Amino acid sequence: MDHTLEKSAFAVDEKGYYGLFGGAYIPEMLYPNVEELRQNYLSIISQPDFQQEFQNLLSEYVGRPTPLYFAKRLSEKYQTQIYLKREDLCHTGAHKVNNTIGQILIARKLGKKRIVAETGAGQHGVATATVCALMGLECIVYMGKLDMERQKPNVERMHMLGAKVIAATCGSQTLKDATNEAMRHWINNPTDTHYIIGSVVGPHPYPDMVTRFQSVISEEIRKQLTEKFGNPNPDYVLACVGGGSNAAGAFYHFLDEPEVKLIALEAAGQGVSSGHSAATTALGKPGVLHGSKTILMQTDDGQVTEPYSISAGLDYPGIGPIHAHLFESGRAQFYSVTDEEALQAGLLLSRMEGIIPALESAHALAYLEKLHAKPNDIVVVNLSGRGDKDLATYSKALSL
Ligand SMILES: *Cc1c(COP(=O)(O)O)cnc(C)c1O
Repeated sequence: MDHTLEKSAFAVDEKGYYGLFGGAYIPEMLYPNVEELRQNYLSIISQPDFQQEFQNLLSEYVGRPTPLYFAKRLSEKYQTQIYLKREDLCHTGAHKVNNTIGQILIARKLGKKRIVAETGAGQHGVATATVCALMGLECIVYMGKLDMERQKPNVERMHMLGAKVIAATCGSQTLKDATNEAMRHWINNPTDTHYIIGSVVGPHPYPDMVTRFQSVISEEIRKQLTEKFGNPNPDYVLACVGGGSNAAGAFYHFLDEPEVKLIALEAAGQGVSSGHSAATTALGKPGVLHGSKTILMQTDDGQVTEPYSISAGLDYPGIGPIHAHLFESGRAQFYSVTDEEALQAGLLLSRMEGIIPALESAHALAYLEKLHAKPNDIVVVNLSGRGDKDLATYSKALSL
């Protein structure tokens, strides 16, 4: 892993902040767990045996490096040079496994026997159950009761992999309730349990730790572009943002390269002003969510607003603190894409390139329509995951 960004204005500072955002706003009961991790994560990550095992699993188990594929027909349509970073080809079908591999190796170094995680649509739960099976660790995944009904195939995958899935039955019975239950479990089992968070959210050091594990994406893009063109920098990098881990990974090694334009795509749902949206930077204000200061959707008196997106992975009321900082500083541009635009972009990629993208990734693809890049510009789109999990949604919405 490349550590050249440690002195960057966009890297986390010693107190766990990105500009005004980040920190660790946690109940006192959680402090020992988070503090143990904070004191150890950087030294563990930098150990040669950790790096060797991490890199070996990424190549032999996950299938990295993932290809940087020139999408010829799509490029002709949009009159520019489009490259797809194929995270959809990772084992388990998305980028999330890059992070769960890293975190389970940390958990093992810390002597933990059990892993707890939260999951919304089940993608992070599956990636966590996968690495627990790989390492022979006990795995407990909290999932909203409603989400368990909506995402049955992923519940079945987790069961097949040997994980215990516990229904979160309070509140709206979705992701935020599952997160609360997982936190409660961690508080009650501090010494033998590690909590694997699935995005660049949560208290410091999680956003930085997850960003480092996902930064393999931009590290590979730079290497692959250098091999193709002798220049590591594209003109644009596009990525969708739920909590923001695939975007953070795709942006990371370009943060201090101002000629690379970074574009983050949020879910507008049924429209930014429809009341059914997850466009956090358009609708949100600064506040504290899941342990860090960031931008989140909230009512005037500070209650978190229920988000909406057709894509479960983008259906989150906040963004990671690194993205709040990239937004405020103007280093990345944030736009939003509606359900309908994403569905059409998913259909277009399927029909023009033979690749069915995850609905999340389709949000990044949809922006190609509005980008108006020049014919010789190199545009990298991070294809965060494959669309098998979304086939029922595509079929119904597009009347296929
Ligand atoms: C979970 C998920 C996302 C959203 O999470 P980020 O942390 O924002 O990357 C995006 N794409 C896919 C395929 C996912 O599974």
